[in-house]
Formats: sequence, structure tokens, C-alpha cells
Amino acid sequence: MDMKNRYIAALLAFFLGGLGVHKFYLGKWTGIFYLALCWTYIPSIIALVEAILYLVNGEETFNEKYNKKAMENSYKNVTYDPTPSNQNVSSSNDDISIVCPKCGHVNEAGSNFCESCGQKL
Ligand SMILES: [Zn+2]
Repeated sequence: MDMKNRYIAALLAFFLGGLGVHKFYLGKWTGIFYLALCWTYIPSIIALVEAILYLVNGEETFNEKYNKKAMENSYKNVTYDPTPSNQNVSSSNDDISIVCPKCGHVNEAGSNFCESCGQKL
């Protein structure tokens, strides 16, 4: 979903607003009412007011109203953090052998005393 530009929306509302083109641009189905009532010129007047509102209310209000989904999606994309797939799950502490500090004998994991010299590990 692309971000809607409020200047484009305002221009469409200003020139083609009587046909609801700016509403369709903003993804609003209500544009069909403009199209259906375009012969009354009422949609043109409403669109003209909307064109001014788009420009007057500023970027934040416009984004809040029409770009919420697009902004939420881009936010998700930025914060999306895939779990590292190269985590070494197979190695656990049970596999680590203990080297005796006194004689250097390699003892089995979980040994409390050295097999060779009896040194407390
Ligand atoms: Zn030892």
C-alpha cells in the first residue's frame, strides 16, 4: 500500500473533485456519491472545501486519516526482526568436558573430582 500524497489529493479534489476522483485516489468508496451527484455541483463544492482542508490541516492530520495503514505497514517492516537461524541449539552444557587445572586430564562432563589425580574440579 502506497502513501497518499495530500498535494495530489488536493489537486484532484480541486480539478476533478466533482467526480469524486480524489476520494478514489484516497481509496474511499464514497467517491461514487460524488460521481452520482456530480450534475448537482454539490460534490464540486464539497471537494473544493476538502481540497482546502487537505492543505490547511497539514501532513500529520492527512496521514492520520488516509495513510494510517501504509504507515503501520512501513513501521512493521522497520521493526520486523527475524530470529537468527544460525543459533547453535545442539550444544548444551552436558557436552563440555572439564580439564583438570592440576594435571591437565580431561574429565567427563559433570565430574566433581579429577579421574587422574583427584583434584577437586
Ligand atoms: Zn588431575
